[in-house]
Amino acid sequence: MSDSSYVHECSCGRKWKVTKHRIAMRDKDSERCDCGAVIVSWNGGVMYNAKLIEDTKKQ
Ligand SMILES: [Zn+2]
Repeated sequence: MSDSSYVHECSCGRKWKVTKHRIAMRDKDSERCDCGAVIVSWNGGVMYNAKLIEDTKKQ
């Protein structure tokens, strides 16, 4: 198991830790930021999880 992860900084300022998982079946989906922007999208034998690590400072 060597799942990889990286930090994605959205244009709204939120930071997401995106972790890639290999899965046995094909999956097509996407993760979206709370602002509506796409963090990551995939189509294939992988899926991603996005975890909020830094929220916007300003409301
Ligand atoms: Zn955002």
